[in-house]
Amino acid sequence: MTPAVPTPAQAVRALAARLARAGVPSPDHDARALVLHALGLTTAGLLTRITPLNAEEAATLEALAARREARVPLQHLLGSVEWGDVALRVTPAALVPRPETEVLLHLALSALRGVPEPCVLDVGTGTGALAVAVAHARPDAHVTATDVSDDALALARENATRNGTRVAFLHADLLHGAPTGLHLVVSNPPYLPDADRENADPEVQHDPPLALYGGADGLDLARQLAAQAPAHLRPGGTLALELDPRNVHHLAAELRNAGWSARVHDDLTGRARFITATR
Ligand code: GLN
Repeated sequence: MTPAVPTPAQAVRALAARLARAGVPSPDHDARALVLHALGLTTAGLLTRITPLNAEEAATLEALAARREARVPLQHLLGSVEWGDVALRVTPAALVPRPETEVLLHLALSALRGVPEPCVLDVGTGTGALAVAVAHARPDAHVTATDVSDDALALARENATRNGTRVAFLHADLLHGAPTGLHLVVSNPPYLPDADRENADPEVQHDPPLALYGGADGLDLARQLAAQAPAHLRPGGTLALELDPRNVHHLAAELRNAGWSARVHDDLTGRARFITATR
């Protein structure tokens, strides 16, 4: 039985059960995060506070619970996400940064190791995650980020400022008008096959379609990006991409045919998802 006036710990248990019934994939985690957020508690506070929720807290939590039950992404409800070593504001204007993309960040940073004052371009920056995290890890880098969405660029700009990083933003379609002489072009482009739209998870339907779908095989944007990249990279520069496990090997083969030396990398679940390529 759910107590009429629960303590925070009881509220977490009741909400987890409710979210599980709604089919939310990680009900315990999300319930805890939402109670902490609604009550402004830290993890330690949750363990030690035994006073029940007051009416205002209960109303705040109920509003969040109803939206999460309706499969609004947790990150949209919390308003921010910890990603890499940065904290990013998240809104429906851009793709929610995914944990797997942190592997792309690490591949990008590896490519820059030993290069002083590297010049970096993040194509289709969205929240700014990759650009801001690279600039945070490498304060000596000259980082530029592009997007076709003005709303995404405004959000990315805010995220750069919040994290005290220096990133130049450019409203551009892929690499049009982007700098040349780059050491690295990094991108998490839209790469899902268009047909995935039919079966997208409810949470993914809150991401902008512009950030997700890349044509029949998902590679339309990645192909254009790879075709434009050589004119912007310096010799030996790196192209680092996140793609879909179903199409990553196709693009790697196409890059090799076009004269690139390309490596495919796995994500943390062992699925091929990233390419680093040089030429
Ligand atoms: N990984 C995302 C998803 O599966 C897709 C992100 C993208 O297209 N860049 O929802």
